[in-house]
Amino acid sequence: MAEGTALLHDSSTSPRADALLLLAHALHREREWIVAHGDATPSGEEAQAFERLSAARSRGVPVAYLLGSAGFYGREFLVDENVLVPRPETEHLVAEAIAFIGNRPLRVFDVGTGSGAIACTIASETHATVHGTDISSSAVAIANENARRLGVADRCRFYVGDLTEPVRAQRFDLIVANLPYVPTAEIPSKPDPITYEPREALDGGPDGLSLYRRLLTELPAFLAANAMVLLEAAPPIIERLCDLTRNSLPHFTIAVCNDYAGLPRYIKAKGPDGLLGSQSPSIGLGPGRVE
Ligand code: GLN
Repeated sequence: MAEGTALLHDSSTSPRADALLLLAHALHREREWIVAHGDATPSGEEAQAFERLSAARSRGVPVAYLLGSAGFYGREFLVDENVLVPRPETEHLVAEAIAFIGNRPLRVFDVGTGSGAIACTIASETHATVHGTDISSSAVAIANENARRLGVADRCRFYVGDLTEPVRAQRFDLIVANLPYVPTAEIPSKPDPITYEPREALDGGPDGLSLYRRLLTELPAFLAANAMVLLEAAPPIIERLCDLTRNSLPHFTIAVCNDYAGLPRYIKAKGPDGLLGSQSPSIGLGPGRVE
């Protein structure tokens, strides 16, 4: 532990926690066991495995890729370098989704599902049916495996394709998205752990909003009556995403919501009761006039 912590001192913001996770993984033990057995001696093979993992971590490889799994909303998700590591800042959006669904067997759409962390958590916590899309077939394979492991494969459907393209002519009660939103010029360089994540899961174009701009033009046709839309983005661009959402969904009630760190992180847009989302822009009602 001491050697690992020292090795990771310069490359990690949490060297001791990382060393503990990697040591537990190398020894095939729970973290609690490691803490309680500070005097145990690892085998040569275990020590080598730990050294390999620590060296990779010191080069910047995210802990989640080294462990092959990431915790999200109280569950473990299979992850590899084909998917973004699920982030705690996304958990508040998921809590909002679960609260909206309640006991209802709603239809949910997760655009750009990645590992399926959002989709599978919603399916696990509710009776909803969740559809997810991703441009990456490797990501869809991981999302399917996560749904299977969590026992929600019967209520999760994942499709390979661009944004809404695979789910044409369907309507949803809740649409959630954590699309790539990092402005191209702000994508960090090595050894930042983010550089090990798929660029196509992070790069949101010049202002970070290229994919959301496209999604928001398509979105109205996919919304059922009384639908909700939840969209995650970075704090500095959230107001612009809010404006784009307002333009696309003029009759929706729209708010910017904070994540658990208190940072403005996602847009919540709630449709007007009894009005199909697609009618709002196409029947030409002026803003504020709901008939
Ligand atoms: N929250 C991630 C980050 O800042 C970005 C995730 C995304 O682009 N959707 O690294």
